[in-house]
Formats: sequence, structure tokens, C-alpha cells
Amino acid sequence: MRASQLIETKALRCSSCGAPLRDPTGDLVSCDHCGTVQKLVDARAFLDQIMLQVNAFVRQALPLGLDASSSTTIDPVARHNLWVSSVGPRLSTEYGEYRFRIYNLLSHTMTTLPFTLAMDLPPGGDPKEAFLFQAKVQSVASLAVDEASRATVAESAGLAVAYAYALNNAALLKGTKPERYHLMGQNFADAALALHGIPRFSSLEARFLGLSRLSDAIDQLSQADVPEARAALEEALPHLSRAKEGMTKDFDLAVMLQAVDEEISLTRAAGSMTEAVALDPRGLSAGSLGAFQGILQLLVQHRSQAPPLWQRTFRAGDRQEKVLAMTLDARRAQANSSTVKVAPLPGPMAVPFWVVEAPYSFQTGAAWRKHAVEVPERLLIAASFPLDAGAMSGQDVAAVLTDVFSARQRSGLMQRLGGKETSISEGGPVQGLLRASTPRPLAGMRVVPPLSTPEDALVLAQTYIDTSRRTDPTLEKQLKLSSPRIVDLVYVPVGPVPPGYPLIPPLGPLSPRSVGDPSALARVAL
Ligand SMILES: [Zn+2]
Repeated sequence: MRASQLIETKALRCSSCGAPLRDPTGDLVSCDHCGTVQKLVDARAFLDQIMLQVNAFVRQALPLGLDASSSTTIDPVARHNLWVSSVGPRLSTEYGEYRFRIYNLLSHTMTTLPFTLAMDLPPGGDPKEAFLFQAKVQSVASLAVDEASRATVAESAGLAVAYAYALNNAALLKGTKPERYHLMGQNFADAALALHGIPRFSSLEARFLGLSRLSDAIDQLSQADVPEARAALEEALPHLSRAKEGMTKDFDLAVMLQAVDEEISLTRAAGSMTEAVALDPRGLSAGSLGAFQGILQLLVQHRSQAPPLWQRTFRAGDRQEKVLAMTLDARRAQANSSTVKVAPLPGPMAVPFWVVEAPYSFQTGAAWRKHAVEVPERLLIAASFPLDAGAMSGQDVAAVLTDVFSARQRSGLMQRLGGKETSISEGGPVQGLLRASTPRPLAGMRVVPPLSTPEDALVLAQTYIDTSRRTDPTLEKQLKLSSPRIVDLVYVPVGPVPPGYPLIPPLGPLSPRSVGDPSALARVAL
């Protein structure tokens, strides 16, 4: 190959995203950054088009008779004057716009877990435009002779390229291309490279490096390469932590802090998922990640379409991390390598329940000898409650928990308040079941992972208590409740039961009526 040809092919640009194309062989060439396969002739035509636009810019920016290639022969003072009077102002206006747009884009979380899309990213710009801006900046770079203008050239060219690659990833994050994590890893790595050596953007460079390794890890995980995924994740975290540390002290980049926090949390979530995949009882295979499809899609759906009741907790930045950490605990117990607390019942499927302490006191006795009775009530809330439509809408939260207050009415415990009551609820069997629960593995069982956090469970508990008080005048009048708190998570084995039978037999009428839609449960069970 002749030297001129070499230069020409090296400079070839993807006609779809504008990124440099590598190693074109044959008539077709595939872009490493957006995945578009194109004809070599189209890539060449696109490059010509860019050159035309750059030349037009140079003609406008420079006085007649000068061109960018001859500009190095002009003396430095004249070059500096040209920069100050004409070229600099043009570029700085456009640079200001790019800076605004990239900061806006990067104030969003720039990753998502497998099987999910990041639909909340702002509508993307065209990466080709950003690459064109970089080409314009470079065409006049020789006019920047002093330190300040050189820094402007480096910053604007670097940031434009980083923006172009980030835009590619914004598009990939919203789409379902099978190789998207591989492409994203490439884009983030090249975005980091574009900012390398620019002190002002060193925290952003670290963020891109971290995101690049995170993308690589997820790509490796989808090919069931656990050791490589682990290694990439171990590199991702320190980069992201360094980015966070730098951004905390940087007035401009601080707009990205919340996004970086979420990216750190998602990296940890990917870590839990990697370890859980490694413990697949069916052995490691390309399909091992598939068990997480239902869980991850559910979590992202919670985030984007949370009913009003759940918006605060479902949109918490670390919710996926928390749920996947608990999923890993469940998987470890299933793989016989650790234990969780389990109720001593038969049943092929272990369902997790939050143990909620809801201590209350109530007034009893006739007027002249009224006294307060303290009751240490405990509730069980199915941690899979997001799979129950009535619980999610808030219409029937009692279905997914041990309904201790209405059991009181059913059991006829207290017809009249005569001053001898020890309780106005009926949670005894729950306490009994909890006392009998012990730590053990879940080997050989299907296991439903906890699909809610303690924060979610507290919202449900509070909704239950509020509803009970509203619908039961005695409770409303008598009950003084301390704030409920989550004290434990316990797995209860359940099996198919005939209609009308309690799901957890020893609890009798207290038993939750639902732990979620059965077909949805089957999709998320490990
Ligand atoms: Zn491309």
C-alpha cells in the first residue's frame, strides 16, 4: 500500500456517526463505535464532505489569500492577531454551545444494566456535527500560539470528540443492539482518550474510563466470562470514585455528581450480578445472565413508571444495587454457600418476607381507670409485593401482608373494650413462625429474590396502617402507633394451595393472600 493510500484510509470516517474507521478490509467496513456496516465508497464520500465543510469554515474565518496550511509560515504575532480577532471568537461561541450540551447529557446516568434501556436520557444531537467541530478546531490550531489559546484548542477539540462518543452511547443505551456494551466500552474508552492530558477534564476522563470498564464487564458477563467481568469491574470502581472525588471540588463538573453516584451504584449492582451468575446451580453458560432479565426489567420499569405511592423509594439511585445485593444473598443460600433465615415449612419455592416491627399502644378501661397497653406487634410483608397489582396501586395492600388488624375482627377477640384487653390486633401466630425460623441454606429450592427494599416495605406498612385506621373506627380512636421499622428478612417456603386455603398454613386467616402474580413470580425466581 502506498503512503498516500495509508493516510487516506486512516482518515476515513463512519458515514453514520463520524467516528474514525479502523482497518477497512474489502468493500464493506464496520464502525467500531456505532456498529454501522457501510460501503467503503460511502465512507470516502462522507470524508470528502467533511473536508469541504472544514475548508468553507477556514475560508470564512481567515482573510483572503491565507489558508490553514500556509498559516504556520506566518509570523507568530500575525497568527495571534488572527486568532484573537477572528478565529477565536467564532470557535468560542460554538464551544460554549457544545459545553452546555455535553454537561447536560452527562448530568444523566450514562449506563444501564443488561436487558434494560435508559429512556430518560435527553434527546441526542448528531455525533457527526461534533466531529466536524473538532475538525474545524484542528484546521486552525496552528494559529493558537500562546498558552491560553492553545488550551482553548485542546479543550474544545477534546470535549467535542468526547461529546460525539457520548452521543453514540446515548443512542446505544436507548436501543437493543446485541453488541451494544462492546460498542459502548469502545466509545467511552475513546472519549477518555480525547480528554487525556487536559487538566480541567481529568475527573471526566476518569468517569469515562470507569464507564468503559463497566461496559466491558457487562459485555464479558453476557458471554459468561466471569473472571474477565470481575477484573473489569475491579478497575471500574476506582476510576469512578476518582471522578466523584474530583467533581466534588469542581464547580462546573459538580452537575454530574448525582449521575456518577448512580454509576458507582450500578457498578456494584453489576458486581452482585456477576457473583450471582457465577453461582448458577445449573452451571455457568451464556444463558446464566438470562435469569436476571425479569428482575432487571422489573426494576427499571419501577423506576420509569412508578405509581405515585412509590415514586420516592422506587426512584432511589441505589435501589438496583440493594435489590441485586439481596438477590446475591439468595443465590448464595441456594448454592449452599451461605444461609438466610428460613421458616420451617414445606414448599418448593422460597418467598422472602420483610419483618416489620409496628409497636403500638392503646387506651383501655373505663374513664376512671383508663390505662395504656403496649403491644409489640410484628407484621410480615411479602418482599415480592411489587408483583401484586393491588398492592402496587395501594388499593389492596393488606393482600400481601399479615393483616393483623382485620384478623382481630374476624377472630372476635374484642367485642367490647372492657379494660382487660391485652391487644387490639392479632399477630400471635406471626411471632410463633418467626421464633421457629432459623438460618439455613435454600439448596434445591426455587427462590424468589426480594424485589423491594426496606424503604419500599415501610411505605407499604405505613399505607396499611393508615388504611386500617381509616376503615376501623376503634383503631382510629384507640391506637397510638410508633413508627414501624424493618427488623429482618425471612424466607418462607410456599407451595401451590387450593383456592381459599391460606398460603402460609400455620398463619391461618392472618396469612397473606398474595405474594405476587404467579406467572410474574415464575419469571423472576432463581
Ligand atoms: Zn459509526
